[in-house]
Amino acid sequence: MIEDQLKAVIRDIPDFPKPGIVFKDITPLLQHSELVELAVQEFARRLENIEFDVIAGIESRGFLFGFLLAQYMKKPFIPIRKQGKLPYHTVSESYKLEYGQATIEMHEDAFPKGTKVLLHDDLLATGGTVVAASKLIEKVGGSVAGYTFVISLDFLQSAGRLTRFNENIISLVG
Ligand code: IMP
Repeated sequence: MIEDQLKAVIRDIPDFPKPGIVFKDITPLLQHSELVELAVQEFARRLENIEFDVIAGIESRGFLFGFLLAQYMKKPFIPIRKQGKLPYHTVSESYKLEYGQATIEMHEDAFPKGTKVLLHDDLLATGGTVVAASKLIEKVGGSVAGYTFVISLDFLQSAGRLTRFNENIISLVG
């Protein structure tokens, strides 16, 4: 099972970035090119019946599999970045973190109105990041066609926050 293969190479880093947090580190996975390929193929297989036009990935770990998957499925890729990183005119969306807030941005001409966007990130925790990304997509007239994650930490809890945008939620681990 691909889930077990992925679990075997994703490692837990205790107390990163802060004491008490156990960080899921996917960097060892990137050293296993055949497993990376299998993961991309598995995403594509599970997306077979989902219609979408483009894939948007969230900075920075969402760029890794997001871009590979876009290439594999021959779809355009759109980067969603942290504030101040994109060079052209942007739309932005702020969201709450445990302490403080974060802002993500996308180019205002990233896609035409009516575009169906598949959102990708490496990991789903509370869902705050992808909820903000979903709002960003709707702000420029697109719709969310579904979500892909390498890992979800508490699928039932966090997926509930996404279903108002779209119920197609794919996670390879968890
Ligand atoms: P959420 O907004 O709470 O769902 O957190 C998800 C975002 O935080 C994603 O962009 C992840 O890249 C990042 N993140 C949170 N926890 C982890 C982790 O344990 N490993 C890798 N990324 C994480």
